[in-house]
Amino acid sequence: MSTSARYWREIPQRYRLEASKCKGCGAVWFPPRLVCAECGKREFEPLKLADKGKVRTFTVIRVAPSEFCDEAPYAVGIVELDGGVPIQCQIVDCSPEELKIGMPVRIEFRKVKQEGEAGILCYGYKAVPVR
Ligand SMILES: [Zn+2]
Repeated sequence: MSTSARYWREIPQRYRLEASKCKGCGAVWFPPRLVCAECGKREFEPLKLADKGKVRTFTVIRVAPSEFCDEAPYAVGIVELDGGVPIQCQIVDCSPEELKIGMPVRIEFRKVKQEGEAGILCYGYKAVPVR
């Protein structure tokens, strides 16, 4: 299966911010997994994540991989969603100097990049500061 086909298959889960909660040990995985890395069970129930949270930690990328070079500097961080589930994502609409650990953010679904040759738009979730 090609990369883009796999990407499109994942979009509904990304769009809904849907995680999987292990029926064995209760661990929550996002993106969802097929096998629990904590206990090895394969039974999960879907868990809708909150779309708000706060910044737990972040890094400012000043020298970006070539595909993102026109976006640098940009921030990526770990956002702890309400309910305690951490997700990694880009933090946008905010200068690096404004970023603070603990600042409230909401999660939005936005275009991440456009793949040149195929013209495929890739979407993903990003954190936007709540002011
Ligand atoms: Zn488990």
